[in-house]
Amino acid sequence: MVAMTLPSHLQHAQHWIDGRETPSSGDQRIDVINPANQSVIASTPAGTIADVDTAVSAAQRAFRAGSWSRISGRERAAVLLRAAAALRQQADQLAQVESMDVGKPISFATAVDVNTAAETYEYAAALAQQLDGAVRRTPLPAHAYTQREPLGVVAAITPFNFPLILSTTKIAFALAAGNTIVHKPAEDTPLSALFVARILTEAGVPDGVYNLVTGYGREIGEHLVTHPDVAKVAFTGSSTTGAHLAELAGRHLRPLTAELGGNAANIVFADADVEQAIQTTISAFVFNTGQFCMGGPRLLVQRDLLEPMLEALAAALPHVPLGDPSQPETVIGPVATSRQREKIASAVKQAVDAGATLVTGGQALDLDGGLYFQPTVLTGVDNSAEAVQEEIFGPVLTVQAFDTEAEAIELANSTRYGLAAGVQTTDISRAHRVADALEAGIVWVNSWSMLDPAMPFGGVKDSGWGRENGPEQMESYTRTKSVIIALAPDPEGQASNAAEGEVQ
Ligand code: NAD
Repeated sequence: MVAMTLPSHLQHAQHWIDGRETPSSGDQRIDVINPANQSVIASTPAGTIADVDTAVSAAQRAFRAGSWSRISGRERAAVLLRAAAALRQQADQLAQVESMDVGKPISFATAVDVNTAAETYEYAAALAQQLDGAVRRTPLPAHAYTQREPLGVVAAITPFNFPLILSTTKIAFALAAGNTIVHKPAEDTPLSALFVARILTEAGVPDGVYNLVTGYGREIGEHLVTHPDVAKVAFTGSSTTGAHLAELAGRHLRPLTAELGGNAANIVFADADVEQAIQTTISAFVFNTGQFCMGGPRLLVQRDLLEPMLEALAAALPHVPLGDPSQPETVIGPVATSRQREKIASAVKQAVDAGATLVTGGQALDLDGGLYFQPTVLTGVDNSAEAVQEEIFGPVLTVQAFDTEAEAIELANSTRYGLAAGVQTTDISRAHRVADALEAGIVWVNSWSMLDPAMPFGGVKDSGWGRENGPEQMESYTRTKSVIIALAPDPEGQASNAAEGEVQ
């Protein structure tokens, strides 16, 4: 295993409140485990209700002080661009932190996670400068205009699987709009957020504008969501937690964006470029060891291609480099937590017990004590089976055959989720027809997981509410105020006639 190092301030970490490390009011701590060998690499505070109160007060004070919320978008953009530059300068170290915390292959952590985070700050900086209102000409005897304003304190709660990217999509946009933040990262993978907290302060984000409290969701997350001084909740996580938090936020009439579970179908038509479809299918379900809300764990393949696809997958998957995430050639790292690996193993066993055929994989692997799981393909699964209908969140692909375009669309739309979908075809008309009919927030054609901060993503059905990325996200971090200023009539007659007279 290549030696990777964790910065010393992360090893015995504290909360980050009011621009500095802040100890918890309690003494409980949470171990952070490296899933590549299950060693304890750090610990963070198991935050308390009092810690959340301290963080929200700091955020509320900072919002009211106006040194972030009331400055120009151009000034905020300058700070966000400095943060992006620091992320790029410290990319290697940050990628190592993310890799050790989550088990991500180092090449992906660098090229995808850290790079996307930097791009997101750069894009949000551009949007910060475009937060314009509009002058509206109305029949009123008034000068009337709108202005966009930040909301106040944003509570951000993020999941374990893409800690850096999914924290960034909230933080960068919320900051660009002038909000202040209290962030609770996932208890299992909090380290990149702690790393970035320091970068934000060094880049010039004023004290109290970004605050981070670590801890268990069920112990402090609900208090954060319902805190009277929180103006908005930005949540990414499971549909079960999302529904619960939506209920709590609703009771407090608090807007909430919810990026929730996914279980995307990848539809391969017989007219697809087969080589490309096989590669796309593999990357769609093994990327991030399958712990990817927008991954493609359900392969729907037109019947003529079923056997060739199964043979190709069975031949290719054992050769996809699996193992030590610190090695640059590794494609499949360990699963992030032992709990997640148990869930994957149990889902595969249950599917096989229910009659599914295991085409390849199916086993947990204990290389170096790490939490590995073989890339697994199941076929002969009924559409109503849990393995098809529910999110497994691991490197597991179910394969079903279809005959017609209509049947493919029906199968694709048949789960309660609707986050992403993919269509592999060389027929451009079919690509448009099917993309239009799919119930999903994002559809990829002849590709998978191409993402950009300018392109919104989010769910339909149980995959959530609202969108992250793009100008759509700025809408959800601002509100519109109308200002209507009564104008006294021109005492000498009609102004427009006078103006016309001057022109003549
Ligand atoms: P999770 O719902 O268990 O936890 C997510 C976050 O919510 C964590 O920070 C957790 O501590 C917190 N939390 C848990 N219970 C809480 C409660 N009662 N009150 C307040 N906070 C609480 O999800 P997870 O296992 O960390 O992440 C995996 C899930 O996230 C999957 O379902 C995946 O599809 C989904 N996800 C969705 C997206 C998206 O963009 N739609 C992206 C990534 C992950």
